[in-house]
Amino acid sequence: MFNASEPPDLFSRFAGYTAASDLMKAGLYPYFLPLAGQEGATVRRSGRELIMCGSNNYLGLTADPRVHAAARGALERYGSSSTGSRFLNGNTDLHEELETELADFLGKPAAVVLSTGYQANLGALAGLLTPRDYAVVDRDAHASLVDGVRLSGAKLRRFPHNDAEGLRRTLEQLPDDAARLVIVDGVYSMEGDICDLPAITAVCARYGARLLVDDAHGLGVLAGGRGTTAHFGLTDQVDLITVTFSKSLASLGGAVAGSEEAVHYLKHKARSLMFSASMTPASTAAALTALRILRAEPHLTTDVRAKADHVRRGLVEAGVGTGESTTPIIPVPVPDAQGTLAIWERLIRAGVYVNPVLPPAATPRLRTSYMATHTLDQLDRVVEVLGSEPELRLAAEHAGSTVSA
Ligand code: PMP
Repeated sequence: MFNASEPPDLFSRFAGYTAASDLMKAGLYPYFLPLAGQEGATVRRSGRELIMCGSNNYLGLTADPRVHAAARGALERYGSSSTGSRFLNGNTDLHEELETELADFLGKPAAVVLSTGYQANLGALAGLLTPRDYAVVDRDAHASLVDGVRLSGAKLRRFPHNDAEGLRRTLEQLPDDAARLVIVDGVYSMEGDICDLPAITAVCARYGARLLVDDAHGLGVLAGGRGTTAHFGLTDQVDLITVTFSKSLASLGGAVAGSEEAVHYLKHKARSLMFSASMTPASTAAALTALRILRAEPHLTTDVRAKADHVRRGLVEAGVGTGESTTPIIPVPVPDAQGTLAIWERLIRAGVYVNPVLPPAATPRLRTSYMATHTLDQLDRVVEVLGSEPELRLAAEHAGSTVSA
């Protein structure tokens, strides 16, 4: 039948979207900044060197010559791309070596590597859960975890951030005959606080829930780099651990670690593994070498935490807030969303790169993060620059966090 009325054109929404272009016109657009060169602790932008306090390169290994040599060697030996999924033509001995060594490091029987941390979470959750199941997710858990649950069609329940009693109440309300998975981050990417794993594992055990911990920010940082579950000595109580190679391991890729059975199942159910090309040989070799360096040089993990503690102390003395963080991620409270961008722009001009975070991602803040390879001079400069912003001191007073270090 001929329909006289035209359907709405999907593309008309492009012209109506002005939020980003308004910021660009005002010179206050903080995203997609092109960097020309990356030394780790510093980056180059528009011909200037900036101290990088907005990266997840916690151990500074992206600049390590051994990681570079491994990536170059793999590029020459295996070529530039695997050109396919691991399931078909894209699996190499390098991918399998990385799985074996990572599983051993994390204290799990097996692991499977995927092309990003995002895909690892998508694969683990959409591979495991069905619409009959319940996923009970910390309110501040990473977006990729929520996306994985949505893709699976499982029923999504959120519980208050890091609140084991809130989790208990949520689990108690689920039907007795429903399978349930609790999902948390090991270290929260925006707050820098550590999951209350002792309380959460106890609740999971009591309510028959399986537990997945996304340890993207714990790997390389806590417990000699082995992460949050090792930090609490609770690796055996956690069913699945997901990690990324794009932070401490200086590469690109991700993994799910667990029992042999779980990993075997996911290798045949995780569509983000089966229908997407595998990690490139160069990124696989880079992650493997970074993992070996981390194992051989665990002082890197205490170095990064000591550097972050140095900044935290400095910021508190300068009257700047540091949230609840006890890790290399330090969220700095700001007065409001509009003010955030003006402060960010002044910090860039003063030579300090931080990430402004705006709703809906989280409440407004500057997300700052630190590396084992920052020098104390660089960190003192960062404290000086942040401490010279009156609005940050004011925001800290409002947040009541000047005494939290
Ligand atoms: N989980 C968490 C907690 C993260 O912070 C991130 C990345 N920001 C990811 C997963 C996704 O990892 P990747 O960048 O490797 O896709």
